[in-house]
Amino acid sequence: MRIGIIGAGQLGQMLGFAAGDLGFECMFVDPSESPPAADCGLVIRAPFDSHEALKMLAEECDIVTFEFENVPVEAMEDIKDKVPIYPPPAALRHAQDRLAEKRLFETLGIPLPGFRTVDTREDLDTAAEQLGLPLVLKTRRLGYDGKGQFVIKDASQLDAAWTKLGGSELIAEQWVPFDFEVSVIGVRNVDGDTDVYPLVRNQHRDGILHCSRAPVDEPTLSELGSEYMRRMLDELDYVGVLALELFVLGDRLLANEFAPRVHNSGHWTIEGAETSQFTNHLLAICNRTPGPTHARGHAGMLNLIGTIPSSARSLTTGHLHDYGKVPRAGRKLGHVTVVAETASERDRQLREIEHIVTQSTGTAGTVS
Ligand code: AMP
Repeated sequence: MRIGIIGAGQLGQMLGFAAGDLGFECMFVDPSESPPAADCGLVIRAPFDSHEALKMLAEECDIVTFEFENVPVEAMEDIKDKVPIYPPPAALRHAQDRLAEKRLFETLGIPLPGFRTVDTREDLDTAAEQLGLPLVLKTRRLGYDGKGQFVIKDASQLDAAWTKLGGSELIAEQWVPFDFEVSVIGVRNVDGDTDVYPLVRNQHRDGILHCSRAPVDEPTLSELGSEYMRRMLDELDYVGVLALELFVLGDRLLANEFAPRVHNSGHWTIEGAETSQFTNHLLAICNRTPGPTHARGHAGMLNLIGTIPSSARSLTTGHLHDYGKVPRAGRKLGHVTVVAETASERDRQLREIEHIVTQSTGTAGTVS
């Protein structure tokens, strides 16, 4: 079995490792010179939407998938008659446009923050009047890790937000004074066999995921998250791993966004779950039965962003994953996972690792 993967970043690399364990080969398309997944299979060095590269992937592989969600859907539709592509490009189409994504949540009865589309400066004033402030102004397309966003705290910032983002298609969204953030990761195969991982609690820093912990010990929220995930998987006739990010407000969950791919908030599953999200994504797209998704204990994951200090290489607790990327400010270079018997021991280990890692980078620890 040879799997074609569009994108050869760290998600491609971890898919590649999982594929190796399953006895599958991988082939990637990626424009970078030496991407993280280069050790896991042949990389066709070309833009993600190169017709020739995707055609070659379709000819050489049994199934094509992607680890990067800004691949033009049209490029995938060009090859969909030649090779099965999972997750379905229709899911990608929804995830690439925040308006389509929000309409899908509404259709499925999944609660979400109030929003308005903003195409003109007047639309922004109307949104502020109707939704109230604070607001988050977001580009509809191509935003990630908090990029393409402006938090408008009071009316004096409306002009600055418009200067920064005006000209693109935008969404204004109510600011949610959330208690905390969570994600749900689900998996579904071609036959519709479905499973959902335990609810994950996420902490972001500067819009980028900093720390994830699972399982969240909140049965009502877990059930709700799982129910919303199942609605999405069924509606999209989804195949593969899907991640849904939500805000927790009291006993409610409000959907923020979803990613039709393996997700950073699921990295803990490599050591911390019975079957990793990467293995399950591959099993699902090959129409095998997904493996069990339950946690093996209490898992935590800390992202290493901008630099991997030497202290992270000599940790006595935790598993270091170094993606082999060139360091750059704000870049995800690796992560550390811990698995403990109790939540408090897991949190203690995370704080200890964060302290060791941040001491050498000069950033403040924030794991609570
Ligand atoms: P996003 O790219 O939409 O996932 O946003 C990145 C992060 O910004 C989220 O994980 C939240 O921490 C924060 N954020 C985004 N939208 C909102 C909102 N409407 N209310 C409060 N925080 C938000």
